[in-house]
Amino acid sequence: MPIKFLTPRQQTLLALAAVLIFGLFIYSITSLQTALIYTLVAMLALVCWICLKLTDGWLNANEADQLRHDQSKITARIDRYRLSLSALPEGVVLFRKGHTIEWCNPAAETHLGIKLTVHLGLPLKSVIEDPRIVDYLEKGDYSKPIKVRSKEVGRELLLSAVVADNTHFIIVTHDITEQHRIDSMRKDFVANVSHELRTPLTVVTGFLDMIINGPKLDEKTLREQLKLMQEEASRMQNLVNDLLALSRLENKDDNDADDPEIVSMTRMVPGIAEDGIAVSQGRHLIDTRITTDKAVLGHVDEIRSACLNLVTNAVRYTPDGGKIVISWNYDPVEKACVYSVKDNGIGIAKEDIPRLTERFYRVDKSRSREKGGTGLGLAIVKHVAIRNGCKLKIESELGKGSTFSLIFPSELIVD
Ligand code: ADP
Repeated sequence: MPIKFLTPRQQTLLALAAVLIFGLFIYSITSLQTALIYTLVAMLALVCWICLKLTDGWLNANEADQLRHDQSKITARIDRYRLSLSALPEGVVLFRKGHTIEWCNPAAETHLGIKLTVHLGLPLKSVIEDPRIVDYLEKGDYSKPIKVRSKEVGRELLLSAVVADNTHFIIVTHDITEQHRIDSMRKDFVANVSHELRTPLTVVTGFLDMIINGPKLDEKTLREQLKLMQEEASRMQNLVNDLLALSRLENKDDNDADDPEIVSMTRMVPGIAEDGIAVSQGRHLIDTRITTDKAVLGHVDEIRSACLNLVTNAVRYTPDGGKIVISWNYDPVEKACVYSVKDNGIGIAKEDIPRLTERFYRVDKSRSREKGGTGLGLAIVKHVAIRNGCKLKIESELGKGSTFSLIFPSELIVD
């Protein structure tokens, strides 16, 4: 049996026995004194050997401890990276050359329909159904990302791949649905604003051209044309005012506006009714019904502009002689205060109601324009409602009339 297969204790005993035999051997051929000297020297050598062995073992044990410590540190670090990658909203898939899946995070599972527990080690080709992705990965030109459909219904992804090292690649997927929606909303918005401004501008420049370059107009015709130009100019002014109001609201959203204040609706509602009467110029019967003296918490200017907007709309879309009721009530069942504007005007078809608060959505464009509408009023009201914590409710029946209400929940009510 080779010596290194003996235990340290067996090795020490064997060495001790060898020293004793060596001492006896020396004694047999020389004197006792010489044998003792040789035995002592041999014992000294044995002690040194044992010491060296012990130090070596201690060093080895220390090295093993260090190695174990380093290993657990690396494992903890890998776990942390894995945890961070798992929390990312972006999908991440690690795959090998030859395209077998090695790891992916939960977002990638949702985006690409991968199930790590099932698909681990399988070729991507057999897991991902979209041939565009497979083609992109196989071609190996990852300089530009590609747009693909997510496995989540109705969502879109930007997918790119990067080379990690000689054998590994990473796919990254980014959900761009929201960004896409915002981009197309912005484009629509710019197109709508341009269109809304172009119409009155065309009319004004047309009249100006006629006045400057056309035959001399008599006083009456000139006045008529100037009046039409004034109407178009005020239409543009209304639009710019509404755009500014919307932009102010959006800025306040971003900059976390001032604290809400106590808004006395019993004081505000009669003022709004007076403004409504001024807009109507006696063409409608405008009534107010205030049955509670409760106030609410909110931003007074914003709430006033939303409340007035609903009254202006009622005037706009109620034929002459119609009736408008502005009320402020407490609903004990819902424990909410309700500001409402009820008219017996043209009403709105059921299918149009959900779209009324979209910017520039109008049921009848020419009617709205003719009445000085911009198509932004209800978008502003909705924005104010959300900012102030209340709800906009629209009830309407075509040909019979509409009721627009702002509902203030109990937490906004001040007794
Ligand atoms: P506008 O400036 O065109 O009035 P709004 O955003 O205020 O824009 O309203 C959007 C559309 O909702 C209007 O164009 C109109 O078709 C409809 N609408 C709003 N209020 C009423 C109402 N009281 N009665 C009937 N239709 C209304």
